This record gives sequence, C-alpha cells and structure tokens, in this order.
Amino acid sequence: KYKREMNLRKRCHDELVRLRGNIRVFCRVRPVGQEAGSSGSRSIVTFNPDDDALLHLANKGKLMTFELDKVFPPQTTQEEVFQEVQSLITSCIDGYNVCIFAYGQTGAGKTYTMEGVADNPGINQRALQLLFAEVSEKAPDWEFRITVSMVEIYNETLRNLLGDNPSERLEIKMCPDGSGQLYVPGLTEISVQSVEDINRVFNLGYVNRATACTNLNEHSSRSHALLIVTVAGVNTTTGHRTSGKLNLVDLAGSERISRSGAEGCRLREAQCINKSLAALGDVIHALRSRQPHVPFRNSRLTYLLQDSLSGDSKTLMMVQVSPLDSNMSESVCSLKFAQRVRSVELGPASATRRPADCSPSSASPTHDSVELDSPP
Ligand code: ADP
Ligand code: MG
Repeated sequence: KYKREMNLRKRCHDELVRLRGNIRVFCRVRPVGQEAGSSGSRSIVTFNPDDDALLHLANKGKLMTFELDKVFPPQTTQEEVFQEVQSLITSCIDGYNVCIFAYGQTGAGKTYTMEGVADNPGINQRALQLLFAEVSEKAPDWEFRITVSMVEIYNETLRNLLGDNPSERLEIKMCPDGSGQLYVPGLTEISVQSVEDINRVFNLGYVNRATACTNLNEHSSRSHALLIVTVAGVNTTTGHRTSGKLNLVDLAGSERISRSGAEGCRLREAQCINKSLAALGDVIHALRSRQPHVPFRNSRLTYLLQDSLSGDSKTLMMVQVSPLDSNMSESVCSLKFAQRVRSVELGPASATRRPADCSPSSASPTHDSVELDSPP
C-alpha cells in the first residue's frame, strides 16, 4: 500500500516538476521592530491582496514591483511559513534530496525563519518533528533512521559543528566508486528520535559554533550554517531501501561590504561571501533554466550541496527582506537576486531537459552528468 502511495506521490511530483520546475523562490518580509539605528525609518513594502506572488517597494515616488513564487507579509506566522514547506520536507522520506536556503541581509530574519526563537521554533526544529511523526506512521512496514549533521562554512572552509574538535576542518571528496557522489570524511552524524535529541544536538552545534570566535552574532552573519538531515528507510518485508537528504541552510548576510573600506580579514570575508552567494545564484539559475552546464564547483557551498541540488532534487530559496526605507537598497539587491534566480530562459533550453526530470520510476535521486570545472 505504501509503495502504491509512494508511486502516486512521485507521479504527482513529476507532473508538478514538468509544469513548474523544481525550484521555488519565496520572499518573507520581516515585521517592523525596534531595530537599532532605525529611528524614523518606515515600511516601504506593500502587498497585492489579489496576488500573493507580488511585492511592491514604494520609495520617494518610485514604485518597483517584484514577482516571486510566493510572498509572506510580516504578519505571517512560523506555522504558516512551515505549512508552505511541509510537503517539500516530507518528500525526503520518499527519497528526494531537498535544499531550503534563507538568503538576505543581516537582520532580515534568516535565522528567525530557520532556527526561530525558543518559544517559537523555525523550520529546522519543525522539520525534524514532522519527519518523526511521518516515519512513525509508516512503522512497522518501514523502518527509518534519521541522522543530523551540522556544518559551518566560513571563508570557504568547512567546520564540523557536532564533532569533538570544533576547529577541525573538513574536506569534500568524490566517492572512488565512480558514482559521482560526494562525501565528507569525518563529518559527524548523530541519530535523532525525539525533540530532546534535537535540542541536545542543536545546543552542541551552537556551543561549538561559538567557540573559536569572539562575537557569535558577527561571526554567524559572515558564515553559512547548514543543518543536514538524512532519512534512510528500509521496507521490513521487501528490503527495499530509500534515502533522502534535507539541507537547511542559514546563509551569510548578503549585504554589500564596501571594498574600499574593508581590509585584511574583513575584505577576505567579504570576498568569500560574495563568491559563494554569487555561485549559489548561478547554480540555481542554471538549474532552473535547465542549462546543460551547472557550475557547482565555484564554491564550497555549491560543491557540498551538488548532490542535493541536481537531478530530481527540490530547492527552495527563501529571500528575507526588511521592510524599512533605510534598508531599501539592500532589499532591492536581494529581490534582484531572487528575480535572477527565478528567471527561466524559454526556448531550446526545454529540449535539453535532463532525463532525471522525466523518470518517475527512479527510486532514489539521480545525479545529472554535468561538465565539471576545476575544484573550488
Ligand atoms: P538574520 O539572521 O537575517 O541576521 P534574524 O533572524 O536574527 O536576522 O532577525 C533579526 C531580529 O529580528 C531578531 O531579533 C529576530 O528575532 C527578529 N525577527 C526576524 N524576523 C521576525 C519575524 N518574522 N517575526 C518576529 N521577529 C522577527
Ligand atoms: Mg542570522
């Protein structure tokens, strides 16, 4: 019965992919709060009651309109955001790889959306709770093992946040079996089964992230934080196996740092952030417009996530925006990034669709054969 249901879900998904592609770009606008240094600043964002894909920025008589796949106005709750991403999250039980990114300038609400706050958790914790609930419903026909890893990417180096040595650097390697799969030797994976397990693991990651840096807030706005969840299942009667991966990514702040003002450490950080965010935008744009070459190897972030971005994987980019006029230029930059990522080149590109997009029977995610450029 489960297999039939799974096939049906897969077919529905493939139909959706055929119609709309498997990359979504959403925008969440944070509420006006008591931000430091924003006295006198006001909201310049307006929404279209008839079309939840449109967002308008009005400033000094100028009106700019942006189109996304969906826009969440400031009053949207954590539950409401989660409802929109639920089906994406549960699809990793069926063997899909999923990436959810929070993008935007520092203070725009990336961490609020992904981690949330103590009494109002974000996508990360809700996702694991939902996975626990879903897999327990499939017992005893299926047995699942859910593991989590936490990784930070700072200045193009990977740090294992759940290991014994938080300053240990990790490398990304290609599996020697010729499958094209990547792996990270030494990456700690912890099996989780309950909310208590999740909280324990999140705390360990948090403490490890805080060690080796003097100001956690500053540091976290300049590094990418990844929560990697793997869901491996086995059918207890047939032995059939599935494996899916969910990558939940709180990206480094996208704000432009003036190159003229920055020196040494700050300049290097700014260059690394620019490079990796630009690489991510290029990869998603290339995938969404079905270009034959996808430049995964231009940054550690896209290289690490290659398996989870290619083939029949699903990606959601949540662009976080501040509504304040004082943040107007950064908001415009973030929304332009969103538009660029979203834009689909029509025409011959659709004829070069990768086979993975039309193979409903493939049980596990396939990996497209892309031309590779030099490693990052
Ligand atoms: P970022 O991670 O992008 O730098 P944060 O998530 O830390 O931004 O958000 C900055 C501040 O605004 C935090 O205090 C956060 O709790 C608050 N905040 C962000 N988004 C919301 C929201 N949708 N509702 C309530 N508070 C929010
Ligand atoms: Mg943050």
